[in-house]
Amino acid sequence: MARIVQKYGGTSVGDVERIKNVARRIKATRDAGNEVVVVVSARSGVTNELIARAQSINPMPDDREMDMLLAIGEQETIALTAMALHSLGVPAVSHTGAQAGIVTESMHTRARIVKISPVNIEESLAGGSVVIVAGFQGMDAKGQITTLGRGGSDLTAIALAGAIRADVCQIYTDVDGVYTADPRIVKDARKLDVVSYDEMLELASLGSKVMQARSVEFAKKYGVVFEVRSSFNDNPGTIVKEEVASMEDVMVRGVAVDRNQAKVVVSNILDKPGSAAQVFQTLAKAGVNVDMIVQNVGRNGVANLTFTVGRDDQLRARKAVQEAIGAIGGGQVEVYEGIAKLSVVGVGMRSHSGVAATLFSTLAEVGANIELISTSEIKISVVIGVDKVDEAARAVHAAYKLQA
Ligand code: ADP
Ligand code: ASP
Ligand code: MG
Repeated sequence: MARIVQKYGGTSVGDVERIKNVARRIKATRDAGNEVVVVVSARSGVTNELIARAQSINPMPDDREMDMLLAIGEQETIALTAMALHSLGVPAVSHTGAQAGIVTESMHTRARIVKISPVNIEESLAGGSVVIVAGFQGMDAKGQITTLGRGGSDLTAIALAGAIRADVCQIYTDVDGVYTADPRIVKDARKLDVVSYDEMLELASLGSKVMQARSVEFAKKYGVVFEVRSSFNDNPGTIVKEEVASMEDVMVRGVAVDRNQAKVVVSNILDKPGSAAQVFQTLAKAGVNVDMIVQNVGRNGVANLTFTVGRDDQLRARKAVQEAIGAIGGGQVEVYEGIAKLSVVGVGMRSHSGVAATLFSTLAEVGANIELISTSEIKISVVIGVDKVDEAARAVHAAYKLQA
């Protein structure tokens, strides 16, 4: 008998028929003699709808109330999934994040998991039930409902798999696994059989929405091997695990695109020691995550500073920069939306040369102007105009010969 954690994403539980399909799959896993813990997301679109509704009442809704609201989505699907299992004669019990013993920090809307006390889960499993856990939510030390950031059901599943020492952790979604690029943008993208934690973490952080970045970070830290696969067929998926030497043979594992970016340009800022520090300290205090940064050469005592932030942070970023340039005594701030980040990722970059040359010449061929560049040991990212990004992603994918 194995202990299996399965996570079903929003599309997989998108309507009643799909919930019944998920229930059949869970039944089959249990009938094969396994203990099964299932994590489900809200029906696809529900979390977005709840956010839109909140923002139509107040553009900056209170974070605690936001969590109270967003937790509804997953609470619907756990109950419906349990009911669907009951209809198939399978004993099943639903648990909210709190009932599952998921304890988080108090940081509403993006709480980190502090510990998991799976007492109720163990009891239900021992009683022979399938346990259905609400993804994306937890409870802080004071009993307040928290959520784990967008896509957070992935984290629930991986953290639970670690906490209950599951033998297998399966992330069921609407594609067959992790591809060399988003298969909705690049039609000939190829499914990867295996990918390292570090590559998956970069791909996720750089915009491949197939896994939540924090969940991959958690999996790496605690050594939770997991598989990403489809809830609509039985094809083998992609295994995500610790790197092995042969993974370096491939120069580029995949291409990621992130449209959720905004560019902030601070112009005519006094070119003196401390100006940049003032800007970025004020941004940090406002809780804005800054990504790529470029400063041009100063002329006539002033310089320009350009950086990117998540699109959701642009209002906060503008406000913080205005405050900083007020304190420095001069400068203007503009925020632009029409950009996207394109990245290539692979542990093989450590040992292959020419990765950047191929990327830049391919971008030139499609006429994509590079606005910012950043690199790490296993990735190169560029910011280009959003109107060019899909074409650029296809061309770059082909240039590294990633196609199926
Ligand atoms: P779920 O609701 O199951 O959590 P998501 O919508 O969060 O699913 O993630 C799955 C989607 O991620 C796919 O439909 C696909 O369009 C997108 N995606 C982006 N990049 C990739 C990639 N490299 N491989 C697979 N899917 C990707
Ligand atoms: N329902 C949440 C979201 O849409 C969590 C998840 O689906 O993983 O972000
Ligand atoms: Mg997801």
